[in-house]
Amino acid sequence: MSDEAPIDYSTGGPRLVGGRCGDCDEVMFPRRDRCPRCAASTVTPCLLPSRGTLWTWTVQGFPPPSPPYMAVDPEDFVPFGVGYVELPGALRVESRLVGDPREFAIGMEVELVTIELAGDELFAFAPVRR
Ligand SMILES: [Zn+2]
Repeated sequence: MSDEAPIDYSTGGPRLVGGRCGDCDEVMFPRRDRCPRCAASTVTPCLLPSRGTLWTWTVQGFPPPSPPYMAVDPEDFVPFGVGYVELPGALRVESRLVGDPREFAIGMEVELVTIELAGDELFAFAPVRR
């Protein structure tokens, strides 16, 4: 598992790399050097679950002014979903959402995917297809 990359492929599909506190077991994303709960510096990388539920979401209806959500060209901008995904363990991750916003619903099951935007690999969550 890489120490820097937030996305890990060692188990097959993409997984986010978060951090787990060695003192109090707090799980965080992104990983920090110190635990946000108890300030211990014993945080080590840990793989987060690849599936979770959509906790809340909104539609980004105009080109964002800054990375990581920058549009390639404002003329080509297409509104997209942004939301918080609750992963098992009560950790919430802010993420871009892939898919038609008309299909999004609070509580729906979503899974981690990766997308390429302006040459960068970004993570996103997409509705689980059944
Ligand atoms: Zn802690």
